[in-house]
Amino acid sequence: MTDKWLPFELHCHTYHSDGKQSLAELAAAAKALGLSGVALTDHNTMTGLADRDNVAEQSGVEIIPGLEWTTFFGHMLTLGIREYVDWRNLSPFHLHRGIEGVHRQGGLVGIAHPFRVGSPMCTGCYWEFEVSDWNAVDYIEVWSGLFPSIRRNNARAFALWTELLNRGYRIAATSGRDWHVSDPASEPVSATFLGIREGGAGEWGGGLARGAGSAGGDDGEGASCEREGDAGGLARGAGSASGGDGEGASCEREGGAGGLARGAGSAGGDNAGLIGGALDALRHGRAAVSMGPLPLLGVLAADGSRAGIGDTVALQRERQPVVITAGIDFDARAGHWELPEQQLQLKLVGNLGEMADVALSRQKPQTELRLDLSGVRWLRGELHGVFGHVRTMIGFTNAIYFT
Ligand SMILES: [Zn+2]
Ligand SMILES: [Zn+2]
Repeated sequence: MTDKWLPFELHCHTYHSDGKQSLAELAAAAKALGLSGVALTDHNTMTGLADRDNVAEQSGVEIIPGLEWTTFFGHMLTLGIREYVDWRNLSPFHLHRGIEGVHRQGGLVGIAHPFRVGSPMCTGCYWEFEVSDWNAVDYIEVWSGLFPSIRRNNARAFALWTELLNRGYRIAATSGRDWHVSDPASEPVSATFLGIREGGAGEWGGGLARGAGSAGGDDGEGASCEREGDAGGLARGAGSASGGDGEGASCEREGGAGGLARGAGSAGGDNAGLIGGALDALRHGRAAVSMGPLPLLGVLAADGSRAGIGDTVALQRERQPVVITAGIDFDARAGHWELPEQQLQLKLVGNLGEMADVALSRQKPQTELRLDLSGVRWLRGELHGVFGHVRTMIGFTNAIYFT
């Protein structure tokens, strides 16, 4: 199976909360940055998503529906939700009840900017919730803001992620600009690249997804409904939103209900697949973050099979060392970042610390190396070099896991 790595910005605001941009302005600015999609995560509201289909279609930038749960005890990003979940009054002790509500909708939750300075600078920005089960948290926004690699609060978030990986949690890491204004950025922007699996993702078929009746093609209503039901596994059953009406009626109402519904037969078909693919990628940790070129990591197993970022590889004691493929994709968002000609370092880091330091460049963007992975439970790549006039971490991959 091949994965297509597409760049997303997963933390954005509009006029509908405290942003200073419309959804159309946000999408246009995302397009100009070479992004394939954005997640709209306004504070405690989803009203900004009303025009989602039109904006996505006109800009060619996919829009993942989301929300930033904004409380006095922390901010949590939710992606792929279909319905508004009000958790403004959620107490620190009931965090998991809210998370379950999101997961029931097929959505994902991620902790936003966990160590950003809180009150009075930014109410509730500092994460204070007690997470009793980190398995319930899908991802952590370890890089927040512009030029995220040089910010100290992000270093703390990155260390938290590392500690959780060391404790055995398989948690993904993302970047989030917390994008409020679509003015040109004065500092480097990072993107979260998601490995979209061809054919294997399944559609995201939420209540916000395409409605059968709205702009329907030639299909009869019944047929459209059926297709919607079949699509995602996440799709809402025909009867659920209705008060016991017949199927046709439910579908019609669903389609017409929100104005959020996507018409069947529109460009939405592929886009709904892209949202499903993006959520699936993040759920499985098929993600890498970079301000510049994209770091990539893989494992070539003894039987010739390949594993990639987010995958789990069963290590065989007698088959050490293991062949690791390490590389940099310089075509990723090419033209949207600047990098002086140099030798870059891809450090392979895991629970046993730094395992290798690979020199890569445009002339030699890929290499294979053999590592004895005895005792290694996870491994990630960290791309270092001079970027924005400082020596810094330019990007990183999520982990490959070993058992
Ligand atoms: Zn926030
Ligand atoms: Zn935010």
